[in-house]
Amino acid sequence: MEQEIKSVFELQQQHKFDLRKTDVKARMSKLKMLKSALEDSEEEIYAALEKDLRKSRFETAVTELFFTYAEIDHAIKKLATWMRPKSVSKTMSNIFADNKIYYEPKGVCLIIAPWNYPFQLMMSPLISAIAAGNCVVLKPSELSNATAGVINKIISQTFDKKEIACFEGGVDVSTELLKLPFDHIFFTGSTAIGKVVMAAAAKNLTSVTLELGGKSPAIIDNSADLKKAAEKIAWGKLVNAGQTCIAPDYVLIDEKLEIEFVEYFKTSTEKMFFNASEINKDVFGKIINQKQFQRLNDLIIKSVKDGAEIEWGGETDEKDLTLKPTILTSVTAENPIMQEEIFGPILPILTYKTLQQAIDFVNSKDKPLALYIFSNDSKNKDKILNETSSGGTCVNDVLVHISNPNLPFGGVNSSGVGSCHGIFGFKNFSHERAVMFQSKLGITSMIYPPYNDKMGLL
Ligand code: NAD
Repeated sequence: MEQEIKSVFELQQQHKFDLRKTDVKARMSKLKMLKSALEDSEEEIYAALEKDLRKSRFETAVTELFFTYAEIDHAIKKLATWMRPKSVSKTMSNIFADNKIYYEPKGVCLIIAPWNYPFQLMMSPLISAIAAGNCVVLKPSELSNATAGVINKIISQTFDKKEIACFEGGVDVSTELLKLPFDHIFFTGSTAIGKVVMAAAAKNLTSVTLELGGKSPAIIDNSADLKKAAEKIAWGKLVNAGQTCIAPDYVLIDEKLEIEFVEYFKTSTEKMFFNASEINKDVFGKIINQKQFQRLNDLIIKSVKDGAEIEWGGETDEKDLTLKPTILTSVTAENPIMQEEIFGPILPILTYKTLQQAIDFVNSKDKPLALYIFSNDSKNKDKILNETSSGGTCVNDVLVHISNPNLPFGGVNSSGVGSCHGIFGFKNFSHERAVMFQSKLGITSMIYPPYNDKMGLL
């Protein structure tokens, strides 16, 4: 594998000079080629996601396939505008010059993807990389290996490996890839491995986009529509069995509203994810593997030992890797459930007496990937927005801010570096090159030596 990786990397290093010459038409036709290859493989994609994560057909359609198609269509529509050099304003010293920003491809890029939305999270950066005119090496997650296999098949049948290549495998393959001096690395995964990737990239001064995780809070104030908030949080928490990077990780709620919220959350969950009193496995996904299943179980046990109470759920079905939606109450900041990203269908509820306490709590933690605000009070919304930081924020909803390609998607500090989607993805895979076309009337010579009597010009 090591030799194969090196030889593909060499091929791409040579080919990148041809690719950088490609115009809008050529890149558009590549994006169309990708879309049509994906459309032809839809059945295999549905089957792979069902196998890896027990994703229902509808969920795969909405969160993986159509999401990807929308990203391709958006890139095709906007590509000419994105690629066009942008004129910028002049200053006195370059008043006669033409000042422009050119968007040049970074060159040979590496994309490493996680297992939770294993298709979409590989395709979305790939679309941006193609739009920006790059050669690309893909490394899907070994934990969602059915999807990894389908991606590899589609890519190898559609593109020459000197342009786009895919290497399946785990840490060993990633580690080999990370030794190479890529022109850019786009990594989606955990914060811990993000640090490994950034350290490896630093050795070659390779630029990085890091799409990481963390604990995304949902703050509910006393003006919120509680029923709607509970329904939205239940969906956001439980879609893909909680294995979503921007899932609301925990709830911070006014202490007077906790009991009512819990009831609404249960009702909404039953309506969406249950058949009578049983989990409906046609719509509720499984935990990716035994290791993650055990981690979530242990987390509940440790949290309960530390004083948290299982308000609802907690039952498990090991054979099917299914963990019932679980609500934990009496949770303190020090409880084990609050020490790591949950990434499963467990919702801890923390209460506050004043909104300031909720804000201070969020600010005492790492900056989250997403922060959700449920409120109908403009002053409270502004207060939370002004006094906290997060990669993105959705007010009175969850997850859906990811669906607008005109908004940047990414984290801040420990939840990520850089952003993706639409023009933001295009820019992450491009070098913004400053170009000044000097005019014959240029006045630079005014500052050449000798300086004798020139101070008076300043
Ligand atoms: P992970 O960090 O364990 O793995 C991600 C990728 O890195 C995989 O392809 C894996 O093979 C590779 N990898 C693992 N260990 C490595 C190492 N030591 N060196 C080099 N490469 C290594 O993450 P995961 O478990 O696949 O995904 C879950 C995490 O990803 C969660 O934290 C979640 O929040 C985050 N995530 C973030 C986003 C986002 O858009 N910000 C999206 C999805 C998931």
